[in-house]
Amino acid sequence: MRAADTATREPGHDFIRDIVQDDLASGRHKTVVTRFPPEPNGYLHIGHAKSICLNFGIAREFGGRCHLRFDDTNPTKEEQEYIDAIERDVRWLGFDWGKHLYHASDYFETLYGWAEHLIKAGKAYVDDQSQEEMRANRGTLIEPGRNSPFRDRSVKANLDLFRRMRAGEFPNGARVLRAKIDMGSGNINMRDPVLYRILHASHPRTGDKWCVYPSYDFAHGQSDAIEHITHSICTLEFEDHRPLYDWFIENLPVPSRPRQYEFARLNMTYTVLSKRVLTLLVRDGHVSGWDDPRMPTIAGLRRRGVPPAAIRDFVRRVGVAKANSTVDYGMFEFSVREALNRTARRRMAVLRPLKVVIENYPEGQVEELEAVNNPEDESAGTREIRFSRELWIERDDFMENPPKKFFRLSPQKEVRLRYAYFLTCREAIKNAAGEVVELRCTYDPATRGGNAPPDGRKVQATLHWVSAADAVDAEVRLYDQLFAKPDPDAANFAADLNPNSLEVLAGCKLEPALVAGNSSDPVQFERQGYFCPDRDSTPGRPVFNRTVGLRDTWAKVSAR
Ligand code: ATP
Ligand code: MG
Repeated sequence: MRAADTATREPGHDFIRDIVQDDLASGRHKTVVTRFPPEPNGYLHIGHAKSICLNFGIAREFGGRCHLRFDDTNPTKEEQEYIDAIERDVRWLGFDWGKHLYHASDYFETLYGWAEHLIKAGKAYVDDQSQEEMRANRGTLIEPGRNSPFRDRSVKANLDLFRRMRAGEFPNGARVLRAKIDMGSGNINMRDPVLYRILHASHPRTGDKWCVYPSYDFAHGQSDAIEHITHSICTLEFEDHRPLYDWFIENLPVPSRPRQYEFARLNMTYTVLSKRVLTLLVRDGHVSGWDDPRMPTIAGLRRRGVPPAAIRDFVRRVGVAKANSTVDYGMFEFSVREALNRTARRRMAVLRPLKVVIENYPEGQVEELEAVNNPEDESAGTREIRFSRELWIERDDFMENPPKKFFRLSPQKEVRLRYAYFLTCREAIKNAAGEVVELRCTYDPATRGGNAPPDGRKVQATLHWVSAADAVDAEVRLYDQLFAKPDPDAANFAADLNPNSLEVLAGCKLEPALVAGNSSDPVQFERQGYFCPDRDSTPGRPVFNRTVGLRDTWAKVSAR
């Protein structure tokens, strides 16, 4: 037996890859064919990313191919918007299905024929029971089901009724086609599952051609067989469906025999990964849309500034296991920071500005100072930043009556302004309400570039700043967890929402390089975190999203 869990494996190796490797080595398959089979009834989320990276990743690593197949068997819930979003998101994640784009609806005619095949073999029947009767007769985990009174219809009667179902003679729900397997089976999936239901609904691709639609279970495995999928990879909840899929494969003239392998779905703290819940979050206005940066959707993460490489890295670290577990949200943020630390340019931005006036700096003088774009990447080069008599610093970087361990600015205290000079606070100016509105300071001209002066004086803090004359006003959106609890209750999710998941700051001060060239690249605001421009930006009014802070704060937050 193989070890089923990846916890002990190197990242990038797992039991499914082992199986694929063995199957290729033994000649069971000449080439590996996988597929990602989303139902187009919502946007993809980070759980889907795990499945995408696994299926497309295996195909790429082993020189095979991966299909994108829309599981479009339920015309009432599916929309073109979702189809477009899914294609966009898979591509953005870095994967490509080439010409292998398929739809379960491509196979409706074949599947219908196979349903008749089962009827003719005496292995399927038309059931007239109501949904309630069927449910009542299905039994429970400990009680066997009861046979339908329609179970022993003749082949001729079944064929006739099924054809009339297709012809549109009956209303929705009047009858279903069921497989004739075993109502006493310990596996409820084997208790005469529904193969076809009547649904007078127009389908996005087949229009009004059909008024009977195959069930997910009848379409899924057979679609894999039609496409010659070698390894049908799915999540654990389908383990109990495998005997049914195998039964179909045994009893139908399918062109190939895919094997199904199950892995644990991704669960993450503070996050709900259920399309049903995500749909309700959007529909009920708890978020601004599917791409709200607080959403765990691919579109939301993209808008938040998460690079696709970070998602791939995260998925690789999580690994592929056979037991369900919940991944710490901090692990995701770790991957995001890792990716951004390598690539994001450093910039200065003041989120909660406090004015500084340097009394001994000549009025009207402007200096260009050199600043490093990315200390992790020398090729990113340097830029010029402007220094002048009036600056903005972070309000939090000043305290009038600081506690002992506060090393930043306070009256008579000296700090370094990044890339610029040493600065000493001389006086705090207050308004009528007693709030500090401006600092009067002096600088030491002998410290240009932020270097220590000849007397070797040291400072204990370095502050970021923006020159007031150049600063660009911006809105900055700070995001916190959408849910206040590490394990939100999907059944009652509204109660677990975090009321403070979005904080909007206006009047933030950016160094001009942040808006030059209209780049949409992620950046690091020095000392604050990683940010990216939001699509709500307009020419005079940039908007930035905080992707992630610089440090892991979740450990602290959950201990609070
Ligand atoms: P629902 O949210 O209603 O359970 P779904 O997420 O299963 O729907 P599908 O469109 O059927 O939606 O999913 C497509 C594929 O993504 C499936 O193969 C499914 O197993 C996989 N998948 C879905 N959620 C996760 C997850 N959290 N982790 C890993 N894979 C997932
Ligand atoms: Mg599903």
